[in-house]
Amino acid sequence: MQSKLSTLPPLHEIVQTPAGRACVEAHGHAASLACIRELLDEYRQQLLAGTAEAEDRESAARRVAGAALERLDSRSAPAMRRVLNMTGTVLHTNLGRAVYAPRAVEAANRAMTGPLALEYDLDAGRRGQRDDAVQALVAEITGAEAACIVNNNAAAILLVLAALAHGRETIVSRGELIEIGGSFRMPQIMESAGTRLREVGTTNRTHLRDYEGAIGPDTALLLKVHPSNYQVLGFTHETRCPDLLPVARRHGLPLVDDLGSGTLVDLSRWGLPHERSVQDALAEGVDLVTFSGDKLLGGPQAGFIAGRRDLVERCAKHPLKRALRLDKVRLAALEATLALYRDPDRLADRLPTLRHLARRPDEMQAMAQAILPALAAALPADHAPEIAASQAQIGSGALPLEKLPSLALRIPAPGASGERIARALRRLPLPVIGRIAEGAVWLDLRCLDDPQPLVEQLPGLAALLAEPTPTKELP
Ligand SMILES: *Cc1c(COP(=O)(O)O)cnc(C)c1O
Repeated sequence: MQSKLSTLPPLHEIVQTPAGRACVEAHGHAASLACIRELLDEYRQQLLAGTAEAEDRESAARRVAGAALERLDSRSAPAMRRVLNMTGTVLHTNLGRAVYAPRAVEAANRAMTGPLALEYDLDAGRRGQRDDAVQALVAEITGAEAACIVNNNAAAILLVLAALAHGRETIVSRGELIEIGGSFRMPQIMESAGTRLREVGTTNRTHLRDYEGAIGPDTALLLKVHPSNYQVLGFTHETRCPDLLPVARRHGLPLVDDLGSGTLVDLSRWGLPHERSVQDALAEGVDLVTFSGDKLLGGPQAGFIAGRRDLVERCAKHPLKRALRLDKVRLAALEATLALYRDPDRLADRLPTLRHLARRPDEMQAMAQAILPALAAALPADHAPEIAASQAQIGSGALPLEKLPSLALRIPAPGASGERIARALRRLPLPVIGRIAEGAVWLDLRCLDDPQPLVEQLPGLAALLAEPTPTKELP
């Protein structure tokens, strides 16, 4: 027994090996020693149990040092890895929605690495307002009198309701009491904001008279909500803002429209389905609109409240505004993103979200052809990939039923083999996220900017496919 353990190398010898030195260099002395002790302990147990072969001290030292470096490297790898979005959903909430434009990255980088005039008026040499720069751009682009910027659109709605309808009633159509992804449910947001929900109409039909009949002395505002992720089809009736506005005016009530995605341009210009824009809603006379920064707008996560100055000011002065405000990095990125809208002709070149939405079929065809041989070489013959027409979508609740004709690499994979291939793709150094449908794994090309990093790592796919799939542990 003792002689077996005498082959255990001492700590200082392990640290002196090339891998040991690299480990200390990369991860520091304390963490390296702790990890080496951990590994030595495991080695000792294995020797005692007879599950490890005794080896000479020198090679044991090199092996343990190498294992420590590998273990600490893998522990310190970020959990939020860069991935390739080949799902065909351009604004994928689970993959971080909009990708920053290069100009927004530069602005964010400037804001992160040095002081900036965030709440500072450079002309007057004294304190300024945090939202001023972005507010001016929103006004310029949309025609809004004023704007207030918060953490996301959920925060925008919360703040509007808390500032304008606390302790009073908010009227909403039953067809618009939406839930968006997990915890965002309109009735619960209203409850958190301290306003009483007054539902009117039915799921499929809400008339003007329903709104009119519900207005009373306790009514604070009328709220319209973009249904975003679903659509009621068939025998339906929606009362639209232009019809609702005269009623709101007659009773002196603000009409607030939660636009959800909130586009600032007419998407049909790029051959995309038309979505009512922020400008459209404000031109109709809607008092306030709310919308997101990281959906169709293509910027960082943010929420906008835009419209009538007196109402925006009540939101901006509410104590919750401070809790919901945006940090300097995202504000700077937002300013740079909005500035791109001054030149719509070059927007599709400069804004990744729009570039992906407007991607031309010939570009996707060229990428598919560049990838196909390497993909075919990495897959067994019964999973031979082919180039196939596919259907992409905008995502994040924008135009949920509209499909964008797209192109994909289709890997036939019936039954359980679909998940096996998808898993191997996810385990590549730059994980590839596709989708499984109709007995195949689909890798949609719409959001791929450069096929090269994918092609370069595909030779490693065969080895990953050969690894056994872990069976799920029973509880
Ligand atoms: C997405 C969405 C929200 C929530 O926006 P976030 O920016 O994700 O907080 C609210 N309302 C509608 C209609 C939406 O589509």
